[in-house]
Amino acid sequence: MWIHTVLLRNRFFWHINIPSNATWSWRKILQSRESCRSFFITQIGNGSSTSLWYDYWLPDGKRLIDLLPLRILTSTGLSWNSKVSHIIHDGGWNFPNIPALQPTWNTITFTPLLDREDQCLCRLHPSGAFTIKSAWDFLRAKKQVNNLYHLFWFKGHIPRHSFIMWLASIGRLRTMDRLYGRVTSTTCILCGLHMETHDHLFFECYYTNLVWMSICHKANMHWPRQPWTQLLQWTASYYKQRNDSEHMIARLLLSTTVYFLWFERNNRVFTNTAQTYQTTVETIFQQIRTHIAHMDIACTFPARIRAIWNLQPD
Ligand SMILES: [Zn+2]
Repeated sequence: MWIHTVLLRNRFFWHINIPSNATWSWRKILQSRESCRSFFITQIGNGSSTSLWYDYWLPDGKRLIDLLPLRILTSTGLSWNSKVSHIIHDGGWNFPNIPALQPTWNTITFTPLLDREDQCLCRLHPSGAFTIKSAWDFLRAKKQVNNLYHLFWFKGHIPRHSFIMWLASIGRLRTMDRLYGRVTSTTCILCGLHMETHDHLFFECYYTNLVWMSICHKANMHWPRQPWTQLLQWTASYYKQRNDSEHMIARLLLSTTVYFLWFERNNRVFTNTAQTYQTTVETIFQQIRTHIAHMDIACTFPARIRAIWNLQPD
């Protein structure tokens, strides 16, 4: 569902386009529209463009038509087309003298500003302007930030590599142990010795450990030998500098290695083809090298990094 807001004469009109395969019912759409209305309030200026009964201009964000029975509203003698300006006189309020409406009038402590037009303000942002970000922040469920997020989503990341590593970090790759009962063998296809689990693949397996040790040596980077989940936590705390080229390459190294190990595993499972660990290491190295060589910041890499990755000198 897409919702477009159009500001027209200080009113927000909601246009809702529904895809043909939408499962949303009209009831749900209308419900969401009503809940979104509470985001906005009209700030009264001269009151000439705000409906007295139907617009949300009261201090609590409500409208008169929702507060009181129609017989009380009609007793004011004002038409249904009345504007807020119709209860303004000589620069001040001229509220209809109806006892049932008096508690509502008492809540209106501001005075009209005759030299200004009415304005529709969004309550979600201090500036009063509507932004997609403020609406999203209001609507979304807020959870604690995962301290691993910068391992996956950082400036210079490779999306498909980050996605596979994210799945691996939450144990959602379809490894053989997760397919238990639906496959005839749960043995790791890379070494043929142990059950294939996330911990085994990254990097307890004989094959993947050889790849991991070799690529770390080739890139002159160090990781302690730890189980998969601890390795991720260690990397997140050690290589956490956002603008440090070495830290960025370290994160690339991990995600790219995970990606190509999973790629190699899938090739063996589904196409019955295999390559040596040396070939996998070279593929990972060249992939990262090509990627960082085309970065805008490549010219700022220290000479030591440029030498390791065979980048052209400045
Ligand atoms: Zn294995």
